[in-house]
Amino acid sequence: MRKTDIIHRLEDPYNLDHLCNEGRHVKNHSRGRKVYFRGLIESSNICRKNCLYCGIRKDNQHINRYDLDDEEIIQSAQFAYENGYGSIVIQTGERRNSYFTERMSRLIRSIKQITHHELGITLSLGEQDAETYKEWYKAGAHRYLLRIETSNETLYKQLHPNDDTHNFAKRYACLEHLMRIGYQTGTGVMIGLPFQHTGHLAEDLLFLKNMNVDMVGMGPYLPAENTPLNDVDVPLYTPHQRYELSIKMIALLRMMMPDINIASTTALQSLHPHGREKAISAGANVIMPNVTPVAYRNHYKLYQDKACINDRPEQCNHCLHNRMDSIAHQIGYNEWGDSLHYFQRMSKQQIH
Ligand code: SAH
Ligand code: SF4
Repeated sequence: MRKTDIIHRLEDPYNLDHLCNEGRHVKNHSRGRKVYFRGLIESSNICRKNCLYCGIRKDNQHINRYDLDDEEIIQSAQFAYENGYGSIVIQTGERRNSYFTERMSRLIRSIKQITHHELGITLSLGEQDAETYKEWYKAGAHRYLLRIETSNETLYKQLHPNDDTHNFAKRYACLEHLMRIGYQTGTGVMIGLPFQHTGHLAEDLLFLKNMNVDMVGMGPYLPAENTPLNDVDVPLYTPHQRYELSIKMIALLRMMMPDINIASTTALQSLHPHGREKAISAGANVIMPNVTPVAYRNHYKLYQDKACINDRPEQCNHCLHNRMDSIAHQIGYNEWGDSLHYFQRMSKQQIH
């Protein structure tokens, strides 16, 4: 697909259903009517960075910082395992020190052992050096999520402080390390950001395709209180426009990359009561139910109006089962639901 075609399809006000049908058709053919769960553990909101859009950025003094203890993390993982989720995602604000690296390695090994090596582990722990990524891979993590946020370097600079800790080239290099080490690698972007237009979004889709990633998680930008980006005085897409653009981006990406995993994000659910189902109907095949202990969820507020903040994990499981049933999809209980694209990519990587 060419950039101009993508822009045209993103801007057409009447083609949402048509795009969803196309995306769904490709997905049903390549991945079937199956959805995989990743139990999301938001293990800490302590972060060394200051991304201008994020509610848990370092300089936000208005939130209570927390760090789950080992027992709480292991119990959350165990809940996911016992409920047939197949795999978990451990996500945190970014921290880089040897204590953090070793603690994560220890936790990964413990979770693997306790779950008889049956629970898959995805990490989303930000930018680290290649050695750290390797250590966690050896400990047993096999997938990693690191969004590029936007593929346009100029826009990236408008969304981040202009310093060495927030550097587009460095973030990109992290993705290259992850892919080379052997992780199933996921990235993604935010949709409907201030300063962003459909040309940027079209470039994002082409970037994801060229980067040849295995998984994508992309969702709407949601303003967060007490963040610099919330205060900028530029026109913003309406919530409904951001919702529609996000669904269209998923459908188009599915057409461009039939065998990857695409997440239906919770941010979408925050914009529309059936946001997650719609994303699945447009081509997504992964959902990340929150398994963080309820008491902490309100403090992991990347953005306002976070969905499912008070649902106990058991309620969430039941609710999602019904929601998937309503769109004739099955849940791949007890399956890792790996990206098929990854195996293709690795076989080519080994030949060359
Ligand atoms: N610290 C890690 C992981 C946690 S943040 C990292 O940055 O990679 C996970 C994702 O939340 C980010 O990649 C970003 O895309 C998303 N996010 C942060 N603030 C957001 C906002 N205001 N609206 C929508 N998504 C947001
Ligand atoms: Fe920290 Fe991630 Fe938020 Fe940036 S997006 S401030 S790295 S938690």
